[in-house]
Amino acid sequence: MNHGFDTRTSPVPTAAAPEPEAVLLLGRCRWCRAVTQSYRLLCPACGAEGMDEVASRGLGIVRCVGALARTADLVHRVRQSCTITLDEGLRIPAVVTAERYDRIPIGARVRLTALAPGSGTAEFRLV
Ligand SMILES: [Zn+2]
Repeated sequence: MNHGFDTRTSPVPTAAAPEPEAVLLLGRCRWCRAVTQSYRLLCPACGAEGMDEVASRGLGIVRCVGALARTADLVHRVRQSCTITLDEGLRIPAVVTAERYDRIPIGARVRLTALAPGSGTAEFRLV
């Protein structure tokens, strides 16, 4: 007897989905709109209670370029510790990956690509 149940036609629909976009969550004060990198109970700028958790757009500008992080397995790419000013106005430490540039120019536009598991370090690439 055929009940019409066929496992071949019921794959998990999200199995082939691309990896989810990294989302950088920021805390924003309800009163003075100051933005912090992590969620806090009190606003570090005005001391008010009441921070909202907001998702960063993931876009920013390179403000400071630090040490080159060389690894053996990323020979075609440059990974550099940088300070990024997000569009939200917050400066955060991050790693920027470049593929065609020898050095990452100050003022370059970057987009968030990933958050390192564990440390939570934001990783950006040039746009
Ligand atoms: Zn505030």
